[in-house]
Amino acid sequence: YSPVSPQAEPAERAAEAALRPSSLVEFEGQPRVREQLGLVLAAARHRGAVPDHVLLSGPPGLGKTTLAMIIAAEMGVPLHITSGPAIQHAGDLAAILSGLVAGEVLFLDEIHRMSRPAEEMLYLAMEDFRVDVVVGKGPGATAIPIDIPPFTLVGATTRAGLLPGPLRDRFGFTAQLDYYEVEDLAEIAKRSAVKLGFDLDDESARVVASRSRGTPRIVNRLLRRVRDYAQVNNGGRVTEELSVAALELYEVDELGLDRLDRGVLEAICLKFGGGPVGLSTLAISVGEETETVEEVAEPFLVRQGFLMRTPRGRVATAAGWAHLGLNPPQGARE
Ligand code: ATP
Repeated sequence: YSPVSPQAEPAERAAEAALRPSSLVEFEGQPRVREQLGLVLAAARHRGAVPDHVLLSGPPGLGKTTLAMIIAAEMGVPLHITSGPAIQHAGDLAAILSGLVAGEVLFLDEIHRMSRPAEEMLYLAMEDFRVDVVVGKGPGATAIPIDIPPFTLVGATTRAGLLPGPLRDRFGFTAQLDYYEVEDLAEIAKRSAVKLGFDLDDESARVVASRSRGTPRIVNRLLRRVRDYAQVNNGGRVTEELSVAALELYEVDELGLDRLDRGVLEAICLKFGGGPVGLSTLAISVGEETETVEEVAEPFLVRQGFLMRTPRGRVATAAGWAHLGLNPPQGARE
């Protein structure tokens, strides 16, 4: 695992749970989403009704699960967590839906990966709080309607565009989570440090935040590594210098590039004169699979404006050269 991977490592689930904000007020950043969602919940409370179904989209680690938990907590109702891939058959979904209590929040992660029949059952459930359970097979099959309690579906997906239109349209509220600003990430780091029981000054919080690729999950992970390093090397006291040293030990640089990201960028610049170089040649030169280079390293390099994918191959930009402390050759792309 790379320390800056946006995916949760299985072993860190418990540590993550301990750092989750439990109310909208504690949820840092994403001001627009917070405000809009706050309104949806307040209006529902006012009417004494369940809140509209909520669709959350955005890259991993930005707080979709956290928001689902917050919705349930703010409404004072239980939360049922499941995911698209876990629902193989429509019957699996019928069982979950009919087991909900009134007002419950159902969090469906990776909703775009649900099977087609389950998806169709969900349409009716979302609209009419009803499911049709088909009994029997062939011409004798009959659909028995079963009422289910009113509930709020919170669906999560990496991109809303992956969902079929009819499903997307059934959500009353859709929020797109974006990468966080460094200031917000620094606040998250400070809150988490309080929960973990140590002092984190502004400068150290900024060191951690600026290396976390806009992602709260990564902030919390890097923070735990800094804390461990401080415990072993400095009696638990975290300083800016120590934070830098800790993250250098884990090979996370000042903008959050890890060893693979830097290896790819260095290969393009130093071995291939800045490119263009084909993906497979590039992958061989860094000793990785093409998929790893394409899906793990490149997205962040592109997002940072360090690399461009062109029809002739990968090219380092002037900013990419500069990040390595190198002078770009004449004519390098801005
Ligand atoms: P995945 O889809 O991979 O599960 P996710 O978007 O559901 O990712 P979460 O599990 O909600 O992400 O968040 C990851 C970690 O980041 C959690 O520990 C959570 O507490 C923290 N976190 C996320 N968003 C915020 C926020 N806005 N403020 C404070 N902490 C946050």
